[in-house]
Amino acid sequence: MPIRQLPEDLINRIAAGEVVERPASVVKELVENSIDAGARRIVVTTANGGMDLIRISDDGHGMDRQDLLLSVERHATSKLSMDDLDDIRTLGFRGEALASIGSVARLSVASRTADAESGLVLVVDNGRRSGPMPQAMNRGTVIEVRDLFAQVPARRKFLKSARAEGAAITDVVKRLAMANPQVHFVLEGTDRTASNWPSVGEGALQARLGQVMGADFVENAVVLATQRHGIVVAGMAGLPTYTRANSLSQFYFVNGRSVRDKVLVGAVRAAYADYTFRDRFPVVSLYVAIDPAEVDVNVHPAKAELRFRDQGALRGAVITAIGQALAAAGFKASTTVAE
Ligand code: ADP
Ligand code: MG
Repeated sequence: MPIRQLPEDLINRIAAGEVVERPASVVKELVENSIDAGARRIVVTTANGGMDLIRISDDGHGMDRQDLLLSVERHATSKLSMDDLDDIRTLGFRGEALASIGSVARLSVASRTADAESGLVLVVDNGRRSGPMPQAMNRGTVIEVRDLFAQVPARRKFLKSARAEGAAITDVVKRLAMANPQVHFVLEGTDRTASNWPSVGEGALQARLGQVMGADFVENAVVLATQRHGIVVAGMAGLPTYTRANSLSQFYFVNGRSVRDKVLVGAVRAAYADYTFRDRFPVVSLYVAIDPAEVDVNVHPAKAELRFRDQGALRGAVITAIGQALAAAGFKASTTVAE
């Protein structure tokens, strides 16, 4: 066969395989967009595990007509200047999510800026665009995704039950809420009893952790607050007496992003090595703030994995933070990290 350039909608569909794996990944991309748009209140509504409907509505800065049209184009982003890959401060940056979602679902994007007379709605139905049309709405953005993967049977086949997909959505929203205490989150729909976590103000981590992880955790945890070699470690770590049989109650955030990372998991394990049994897992919600130039977030399309330049320094910072907080609470470790 001769080499030929792939058509645009096929390129989008291939990319969609990386960005939108399942309904929860759609929710993550859309809520991150809302946060990047400065939203103070985000409502997430889903039906049938997000497979029938995902609706995210926010009160962020919205988009004007030109931005709305560009938002669904591939590699169109307002978040990255030309040579900025080393210094990423927003959650999104690939300009891929909306284009990808629009290629595998019925997507509608409605948006209104503060100074617009009305909103506009744009529809992309499995790659076919129509609009924008005027629509009455408040300032902000409302995005609806219907019938995800309905026209991509190969993908739909790999989804789990509505219940499992709904649980994955809850987990994603929970992590985003933990990372953004200043935002009011509402999670509702046919999949669940509604969650409602009003804003607790900028930096009021403990209050948000109480909302999301329960008062029980907060009462049985110590507050982390250290800085070591320019790495800030915050959050809360459960007492060694407050453990779980698995690591599902360990949450890690780096520069405002929920991550899975072996270095952090290993550091927590080491910090508790003297106190807990090998097969028990402490409950932690750990927030690391580090110079963005020290982290590569560009490893994974869903951005859940990172690469740190100086893993040893990070590990030391986490062990020190937990060790100091536990020591202050009366737990004394036999090992310490050398300065
Ligand atoms: P990225 O977030 O990587 O830039 P997306 O495809 O997720 O790519 O979004 C494309 C662009 O659409 C964003 O850069 C932003 O300008 C705009 N956008 C998307 N969602 C919203 C929203 N909820 N509010 C305001 N602007 C948005
Ligand atoms: Mg995005």
